[in-house]
Amino acid sequence: MLEQLQLLRDLQELDQQKLDIDQQRQQQTGELAELQVVVDRLQEMVDTLDADIATIEESRGELRLSLTKEQDNVERAEKRLPQIKTQKEYVAVLKEVDTAKKLAKELEVQIAEKNQELESLQADRAEKVDELNTRQEETSSRKSEIDARIGELDGQLGTMASQRGNLVGQLPTPLRKRYELLLNRRAGLAVVEARSGACLGCNMHLPPQLFNSLFVTQEVQSCPHCSRLLFVVSPA
Ligand SMILES: [Zn+2]
Repeated sequence: MLEQLQLLRDLQELDQQKLDIDQQRQQQTGELAELQVVVDRLQEMVDTLDADIATIEESRGELRLSLTKEQDNVERAEKRLPQIKTQKEYVAVLKEVDTAKKLAKELEVQIAEKNQELESLQADRAEKVDELNTRQEETSSRKSEIDARIGELDGQLGTMASQRGNLVGQLPTPLRKRYELLLNRRAGLAVVEARSGACLGCNMHLPPQLFNSLFVTQEVQSCPHCSRLLFVVSPA
């Protein structure tokens, strides 16, 4: 029976370590996820800038086409001038040239505005791409470290699983079930020391008779308050 209590204590210690390793593993994957969120957000910004740049380039392209058209109009009208016979027609063509020139001027202004917008967006994009590259490098090198650490932790978990199987296999089924149930209900702490008359799991005082019996009994005993399995460390 004392042997059973020792098995339970060993099992509890192993499960405590396992819990600790699970937490470390979670912390590592959590850190990686956080780094990835930053990378993804920067990538999104770059994508948005790319879309904005494409839209502006497209409308600049349309403006340039219109400009070419107006410049052609000016050229064609001016070529006609020497062949014109009447004053009335001459005035009409001059007016046509004037209108086309004005339109061309307006289009040039609009194109210049688009150029300015593009310049500023491209500068912004270059900045974001720089940051993205830096963050990607950082994340990728941290990821290698984290993957290696997770590999180590998984190796430890594997070893523990077989150790655990070995310990659990030596416990009678009802006791094993009792232990597993407590482990789930009591946040991973099923076997606790009783010291100075109290259960160290819930810090409640134990009935003195129960506490004293722990030093002599061969039975596995439970705390009446939290149901955890109790052991005592005999004074040396
Ligand atoms: Zn207790």
